[in-house]
Amino acid sequence: MFKIGCHLSIANGFLKAGKNIVALGGNTFQYFSRNPQGGQARPWDQGDFDGFMEYASVVGIEGLLCHAPYTLNACSANPQTREFARMVFKSDIIMLEHFPNALYNFHPGSHTGQGVEEGIRQIVEILNEVIYPEMKTTILLETMAGKGSEIGRSFEEIAEIIRRVDYKEKLGVCLDTCHVYSAGYDIVNHLDEVLEEFDAIIGLERLKAIHLNDSKMPFASNKDRHEKIGQGTIGLEAILRIINHPRLKDLPFYLETPNEDEGYQKEIELLKKCRKY
Ligand code: FE
Ligand code: FE
Ligand code: ZN
Repeated sequence: MFKIGCHLSIANGFLKAGKNIVALGGNTFQYFSRNPQGGQARPWDQGDFDGFMEYASVVGIEGLLCHAPYTLNACSANPQTREFARMVFKSDIIMLEHFPNALYNFHPGSHTGQGVEEGIRQIVEILNEVIYPEMKTTILLETMAGKGSEIGRSFEEIAEIIRRVDYKEKLGVCLDTCHVYSAGYDIVNHLDEVLEEFDAIIGLERLKAIHLNDSKMPFASNKDRHEKIGQGTIGLEAILRIINHPRLKDLPFYLETPNEDEGYQKEIELLKKCRKY
């Protein structure tokens, strides 16, 4: 089954978002755990959640992806920012444990001048504090474009974080097509080789989700600017090879393209039409 969806707001609850994704033609979606710029999570609404789970099982919605706020930076030089990251991780995980098998995606962080080694050490320290053996949620490290002091620009950096986390069975990776292309992985001309490299360094079994985006920026620019599907430097053909690749086709794909509902609906329709399986 083609698992396809887009980023949606849960400001009006999970059930509304579920109905929205069905109207857009999708069967999964990504949402922010709270305002992307930080702040309070919306209070837990058990009735809304129960209603959503019932609806999801009837219409076949599967595998939601929760995205941590952009303000979560586990390796900031500012200790208060790291404390906020700890708090957000802990409280978001409590929320996500309501789901049978939630996915929680976060940006590894920006070391803000401390250096990659110290940044990785701080990320690992926080992950080791917040992950516990009974946790059902899988935490995904997102591949990043490498702007500024971003960590996660290479498969090696992601692999190093995973290697140093105690309960590594709780970790996975979310591959963002716009980000990896900007980071210098040529998924347009050498998709097979990039996936082989991912497999050799991280292991493809860790790959749990794809952020499916085109890019406004050239290859290896280290810039993070998403574009609509088929309108950027990655292009439609390469994107179709990605959704139809035998080693990727069973993963959930989430659009984070600059769109309102109507644009998402069109992209989902196009991708479904061009899906081979
Ligand atoms: Fe992201
Ligand atoms: Fe992304
Ligand atoms: Zn991005």
